[in-house]
Amino acid sequence: MDSRRDFLRKSALLSLGGLAAKAVSEEKLNELEKLSGENFSLTAFTLPALPYSHDALEPFIDKQTMELHHGKHHQAYVDKLNTALQTTKNPGHATLEEIFNNINSYSEGVRNNGGGHYNHSLFWTLMKENKAGAPNLPSGKIADAINSSFATFDEFKKQFAAAATQRFGSGWAWLVVSDKKLKITSTANQDNPLMSLAEVKGTPVLALDVWEHAYYLKYQNKRADYINNWWNVVNWDKVNELFSKA
Ligand code: MN
Repeated sequence: MDSRRDFLRKSALLSLGGLAAKAVSEEKLNELEKLSGENFSLTAFTLPALPYSHDALEPFIDKQTMELHHGKHHQAYVDKLNTALQTTKNPGHATLEEIFNNINSYSEGVRNNGGGHYNHSLFWTLMKENKAGAPNLPSGKIADAINSSFATFDEFKKQFAAAATQRFGSGWAWLVVSDKKLKITSTANQDNPLMSLAEVKGTPVLALDVWEHAYYLKYQNKRADYINNWWNVVNWDKVNELFSKA
């Protein structure tokens, strides 16, 4: 058992056993494992720390929105995902990517909260501080790919913003690599392009949350203003990193 898996197993068992103490004997773990059934190791997803402070994305995304969005909304997806994996059908894939690839074999609870956990974990890394609102343009390979796929960066922004604006209700806008091409798509609720049921399947390299909880405190009903300001804090280095691996 590798160390991450061992860690997940221990965390899951400790949580199933209702134990607060970290130091628990291997014997106790084995006993809990027998009691807990077979899929214990999948049930210990945890909230990742934000890679910056809550106010880092000011003035474009406000501190209070980030506190609630990360600390309450994302935490709830993590908690409900762990519960759903314990209490609903669970074929036992080891990673979220594998779960998404077989999403029809899982419950709505795993679909919604697994998507919620993955999408937000990615979203935080795709933003960075830019307090002065300095010009924030893509560079390197992603800039070249955007220009060859969409003619200009402005045209790309226009199409991406249209996908984000036109998504009815709650959902996400995405830039994905699909069949070696860049494509813009959007998904409803917490679905994402890794899910086997996605209209456009692909590897996400950029994501934008357009749920009202992502912008309502600062922007109220003006989703277009939120999108327009969000470009200031896109972390293009991270987009390049994801693009190089896609
Ligand atoms: Mn959200």
